[in-house]
Amino acid sequence: MIKINEHYTEIGNNYLFAEIARRVREYKETHPDKKVISLGIGDITRPIVPAVIEAIHKATEEMGKVESVRGYAPDAGYDFLIHAIVKNDFTDRGIQLNPDEVFVSDGAKSDTGNIGDILDRNNRVAITDPAYPVYVDTNKMTGRQIELLPCTPDNHFVPTFPKKTADVIYLCYPNNPTGTVLTKEQLKKWVDYALEHQSLILFDAAYEAFISQPDIPHSIYEIDGAKKCAIEFRSFSKTAGFTGMRAGYTVVPKELIAKTSKGEIVSLNALWKRRQSTKFNGTAYIVQRGAEAVYSSEGQKQIKETIAYYMENARIIQNALHDELGRTTFGGVNAPYIWVKTPDNMSSWEFFDLLLNKIQIVGTPGSGFGKAGEGFFRFTAFGNRENTREAIERMKKLMN
Ligand code: PLP
Repeated sequence: MIKINEHYTEIGNNYLFAEIARRVREYKETHPDKKVISLGIGDITRPIVPAVIEAIHKATEEMGKVESVRGYAPDAGYDFLIHAIVKNDFTDRGIQLNPDEVFVSDGAKSDTGNIGDILDRNNRVAITDPAYPVYVDTNKMTGRQIELLPCTPDNHFVPTFPKKTADVIYLCYPNNPTGTVLTKEQLKKWVDYALEHQSLILFDAAYEAFISQPDIPHSIYEIDGAKKCAIEFRSFSKTAGFTGMRAGYTVVPKELIAKTSKGEIVSLNALWKRRQSTKFNGTAYIVQRGAEAVYSSEGQKQIKETIAYYMENARIIQNALHDELGRTTFGGVNAPYIWVKTPDNMSSWEFFDLLLNKIQIVGTPGSGFGKAGEGFFRFTAFGNRENTREAIERMKKLMN
């Protein structure tokens, strides 16, 4: 008889976005004349930039010719992309990495979700709350014990160390959903904690490209000692509009070691390499050529324009909610998310229903990202300008 992984029965369905979709669908069915605007899901709306499109076209042409067609890609990525990553994202920022410490993938969701494959089930895991749901769900799927680290206005969204020593710690900065960041000094405390307790930090830097202020680390490896205790995840999804194209990468430094129960020293880089080469067959050549073009001077100029467009949306939302409506807001400066306290102590879902029913605006209830997100709401800056402005006008009328 089949035996299933029963932990899957404990995590329930992916409630958040399915529930949002259900409520929006029902509303639209009963109010077909109303224009619903979504500032909810964190997906891009701007087109992929011309430099990337050009590279994709060129790569597509290559695939149609006998002399240049490519088959399976290397599991860890093509050298041309890995070299562009190492140079632009690390060497130019004063961080030394070897090309074989970088693993190109189809995105940060897969990697943050799959990394648990190389870690024992008995690790104690600490995860910030609220958080990108993949961290909690994938650890629950394996049956690991999780300690949540609340991030709220009370601690300025800086998590305090776990009560019980954690073996594995998930940090995501700039943060989804709160849009908040850690300074170098604050991140250093976590690196020091991990070094002291021989813990592993899983650092999700998917929103690194949105950092606008100095002294906010773009990579955890800006902190001394981090190569001995941290894996970093990056994504081209929000940086360059690759949500539908799929590309990201993970850095597993060679200095990062762990011990087996017998005390033998094992390289996490070697384990991840083994995991990827067994279960992953590489990111499409065409997509990797597109990702490489992100680092060209034209590509950089163009993606920065797109990021500036989104961040202007963030400024508009923040300006209206905070400055004009006097709401308590967070984020929106180094991240494309604005985290707002719900009015009149409403629950996150009550506020969701109010916005949908009264002014046809869709956002994301903070409680969907964890218990500490209750009483908060997330707006994204990824909408188009016209819709963002219209949404703001509707909110001003409702809440003024
Ligand atoms: N990490 C965080 C914090 C995210 O918010 C997201 C997507 O929303 C991802 C990872 C997934 O990125 P990717 O599209 O590269 O899988």
